[in-house]
Amino acid sequence: MLPVIALVGRPNVGKSTLFNRLTNTRDALVADYPGLTRDRKYGQAKYQGWQFILIDTGGISGDEQGIDAEMASQSLMAVDEADVVLFLVDARAGLTAADEGIAKHLRMQGKKTLLVANKVDGIDGDSASAEFYSLGLGKVYQIAASHGRGISQLVETVLEPM
Ligand code: GDP
Ligand code: MG
Repeated sequence: MLPVIALVGRPNVGKSTLFNRLTNTRDALVADYPGLTRDRKYGQAKYQGWQFILIDTGGISGDEQGIDAEMASQSLMAVDEADVVLFLVDARAGLTAADEGIAKHLRMQGKKTLLVANKVDGIDGDSASAEFYSLGLGKVYQIAASHGRGISQLVETVLEPM
């Protein structure tokens, strides 16, 4: 059985960009507008010798109604199916109420969760990440999914203990 990793976070934080990079596909639609990936999407990743199953999700926005409610329930199912959750936040946008809502849910769920600040390209990653420590999920891993920065270290951290 391959380890299963779920990508969770509000829309537009870069989940599909990371999914595509790790699975070497363009299957997960990357959008300049939030919420395009409305279902769970599975991919098999082979990344620098590591093999795992990745689940992309449409995202959780915090005020769940209509299509958002469907996306949120897909995300929660993905969390259920996963061995590890990567909770992505946007280092450029900063901490949002939606991030806090998702973090609260993930802390209650008790699944192994790594907090990942994406989009640290061209900004001071350390200062941009500092406010995310208040989410109570421990270390903030810094990546730039669209540039490939920080990803091999993240994958190693997730999979080495498994
Ligand atoms: P999702 O809704 O969480 O799946 O987010 P997407 O993967 O669709 O990305 C949303 C937007 O963020 C797109 O315009 C991406 O090109 C952009 N994006 C994703 N990763 C990065 C990154 O590392 N740096 C920057 N600057 N932009 C990124
Ligand atoms: Mg997406």
